[in-house]
Amino acid sequence: CGIVGYLGTQQAASIILKGLQRLEYRGYDSAGLVLYDNAHFQMFKTQGKVHDLRQLTNFDATTQTIGLGHTRWATHGVPSDANAHPHYSNSGELALIHNGIIENYESIKKVLLAKGYHFISDTDTEVLVNLIEDVQKTQQCKLGKAVQIALTQVVGAFAIAVIDKKRQDELVAAKLGSPLAIGIGDNEFFVASDASPFIEYTNQAIYLEDHQMAILIKGEAPRLRWIKDDAVSEYDIHELEL
Ligand code: GLU
Repeated sequence: CGIVGYLGTQQAASIILKGLQRLEYRGYDSAGLVLYDNAHFQMFKTQGKVHDLRQLTNFDATTQTIGLGHTRWATHGVPSDANAHPHYSNSGELALIHNGIIENYESIKKVLLAKGYHFISDTDTEVLVNLIEDVQKTQQCKLGKAVQIALTQVVGAFAIAVIDKKRQDELVAAKLGSPLAIGIGDNEFFVASDASPFIEYTNQAIYLEDHQMAILIKGEAPRLRWIKDDAVSEYDIHELEL
């Protein structure tokens, strides 16, 4: 299973699809991709290989410069198109990819169901994206803060990346247990399970530590913080060897 996200000025789909192919060694049963532009998401997902995902449309014709891609190794819910990532929140305003396991998803799901949320997949991941939405709605906070508060309620392992329809040019990522690398290019960011999807575009990487999250806004320096204690965290920029 692998994740690839892109936020920049180049065509996102080809970078993400090529990146997912480089992560194929991690093993997976489904693949998916969401593209974002002008407050509009376009979603493609399928059970099968990245090759099958590529058949869903002519990705060369897409123009979006923001997107999230995923290869899934099913842990909660069978391999299927519906269970493939990315997952939307109920309002359709958030899209999220996740590697790992939300161990306490059942209890969170119960609370969300009681609040009127519905679920179209059997995944633990769809619970997480709706938890983030619920925090955003009830506490009226921005995406980064909502992700942070939601993750303090989560037991398990995750590398996630999430984008918000209302927040053009922003991507939030976080890590606990599963790997997550951030590539910093010229007015562009990459996130991925390892550096192989972005090594041809930049040699500057940050490896997120456990319990760390990143708020990436196009044209600004990356902002990292700890999930648990609200402190801004320092980071090292790792020079990749090409
Ligand atoms: N637990 C999630 C699912 O089953 C993510 C699995 C993965 O890491 O690919 O959908």
